[in-house]
Amino acid sequence: MSNSPTALLDPLGFILTEYTSYVDTSSAPGKVEEVVELIMIDEMKGDNGEKSQAFDIVSYGAFVRGLARTALTKEVINLWDYVETQGRDSIAKSYKIPKKKTKKAIWILVIGFMAMNGYEGGLKMIEELTTNAEQTQDEVLREILSRNAGTGYLMGFLHGQTEKRLFKKNVPVVTYEDLKPYIDRIANRETSEILLAEPVIGSGTSGGQPKLMPVTAEYQKNGALYDTLSQSPMMRHFGDINQAGKRMELMFARPEIETPSGLKAASVLTSVYNESKFRTILPKLYTSAIETIFCPDPNQGLYCQLLFGLIQRDEVVRVGSLFASTVLRGIKFLENHWQELCYDIKTGRLSDWITDSGCRNAASLVMKPNPEKADLIENICNCKSWEGIVRKLWPKARYISCVCTGVMRQYIAELEFYCRGLPLVSTFYACSEALCGINLEPLCKPCDVSYTFLPNMAYFEFLPVENDHDESIEMKRNDEDTELVDLVNVKVGQCYELVVSTCAGLYRYKVGDVLMVSGFYNNAPQFQFVERKNVILNVDQEKTSETDLFKAVIEAKALLDPLGSILTEYTSYVDTSSAPGHYVLFWEIKGKEGKHCKELDPKIMVECCTRMEESLHYTYKIYRKRNIIAALEIRVVKQGSFEALMDYYVSKGTSLSQYKKPNCIKSEEALKILDSRVIGKYFSPKSPL
Ligand code: AMP
Repeated sequence: MSNSPTALLDPLGFILTEYTSYVDTSSAPGKVEEVVELIMIDEMKGDNGEKSQAFDIVSYGAFVRGLARTALTKEVINLWDYVETQGRDSIAKSYKIPKKKTKKAIWILVIGFMAMNGYEGGLKMIEELTTNAEQTQDEVLREILSRNAGTGYLMGFLHGQTEKRLFKKNVPVVTYEDLKPYIDRIANRETSEILLAEPVIGSGTSGGQPKLMPVTAEYQKNGALYDTLSQSPMMRHFGDINQAGKRMELMFARPEIETPSGLKAASVLTSVYNESKFRTILPKLYTSAIETIFCPDPNQGLYCQLLFGLIQRDEVVRVGSLFASTVLRGIKFLENHWQELCYDIKTGRLSDWITDSGCRNAASLVMKPNPEKADLIENICNCKSWEGIVRKLWPKARYISCVCTGVMRQYIAELEFYCRGLPLVSTFYACSEALCGINLEPLCKPCDVSYTFLPNMAYFEFLPVENDHDESIEMKRNDEDTELVDLVNVKVGQCYELVVSTCAGLYRYKVGDVLMVSGFYNNAPQFQFVERKNVILNVDQEKTSETDLFKAVIEAKALLDPLGSILTEYTSYVDTSSAPGHYVLFWEIKGKEGKHCKELDPKIMVECCTRMEESLHYTYKIYRKRNIIAALEIRVVKQGSFEALMDYYVSKGTSLSQYKKPNCIKSEEALKILDSRVIGKYFSPKSPL
């Protein structure tokens, strides 16, 4: 059976759970009938409001007939018949896009395109969407408003009206804090209609300090489409990895919480891991077993995922995780545990400290004594330098997939060392609130990655941001007075804060990310991620951002190079225990070849402090000169301190998959973890001006 039918079903919210076939010779000539069992994962409403029914075992034709009640289905039938009679190639050339870009039409588009063949359909759809960016955005907004105008929240601003002009004039730009009372009421048994028309099927959580977000069936369906579209440019470059082999992907679910109204709240990824569709494809496409993803102890889960990945190393065509930090965490864990892993592979017995029964069961299915494989891996890991280790361990891997932009860019250099010879690919830019952009150029350098926004994913607006420290006096800016710019009207080179509206109850919601327009693809803008819009260090209104800090660290850490040392992790905080306050940087440093660095040279470390201060923005330097800020301090911490920090946040409920190391420490406990591991303190000796 070809793959396309499964791909066709995905966007419709169906999963193919089983199939078999028989040869029908009742009429001549005989033909192969595909007998397909379908499960509808959510109900679809037809145009007349009637719900379509769940399916039993049906053949393809019956599948189409079973859906025939809705107008959507009619179009699907036509399209499917068309695909069948014309053949894919001719459709790929001639298929006409429905003129009106309704959501319905977009689904039909996907179906049509996916019927053509693999990624080309996805690419063609990206062309369509980006060419018709403005119309698609208007349609998305129309849909959000026509569905949700009657909700308590929007009634207060629009009184039931749905015009774009009024939306722009009356609906305020908000943050999570503004919507929180509504979301809390939904979580506390009130109807979701105070905020959104569609029923809430669960809640997503986001960020280190988890936030609840309404999640609807629509959001999940969008996820499937987004995934298809974001993978298409990858397939153009790396081939169809689903056909080629498996992914060694480090994945970690976080326990769900239940709100008082009985809604399940889970991180976006945990929800994905919970979907039956994901569980069905997991054994075929990934090396990790579901029990290792859901293991309550992330270290046991990680050990087993690495173990399974090594056992199946010859099948692995992609290595990755959601974020670069998790991939790096995996590699470092491997550095500390490879002997033990090899021993387990050799003997076919899982280490005793893995006590989780799910992991042990999963292991019993894949483990058998394999001394040859263990020896091979041992030889690779035993070499002096771990440069390019990923490629050596997984020789068929085509690329490393993980987000390397934003906070993650600090890991690029180290990841490149371990992954030498393999491209590091950031596939998408998304958040729990909305799916936003995809990377159309997977082979570009990690630091140059731009994300092309998909105009069908949400209604996007942009708040211009002044991001300038060249003047000593910060310009005061009032967000309310600044006009939001539409997706297609942003200007190249300008920075903006992202504002999204979705069917899931977010209206003109500030995500908190600052993006810079790097160009356009057709009519859709492409953005580079700049920073989380929060000032992370502030002694006296000098407002140092994540980017300011990052640039200064880059300058300073270059001084370690000649010593053969690498800065592997950093974070910061403002120490105001003495006046005036000062910046403290925690640095974890290691030697290039081995794990431990040689003695640190205090002179160089002091120079690093000086270089940091010289590289910070003008306002900081002026304040330093006037002694409004005291000398910057670098505290070097022991190896493994940042792993301990990650363990701490994970123990507090952060998902290991979505963990983003804070660039500034706010919690007392986290501070204690780092402070208790300090092995050297260094101060800048003089003002940078
Ligand atoms: P979460 O809500 O936990 O899913 O985290 C979403 C946040 O992660 C976004 O708002 C961004 O700050 C960050 N993020 C997601 N994707 C990227 C990316 N490709 N590059 C940089 N930061 C990202």
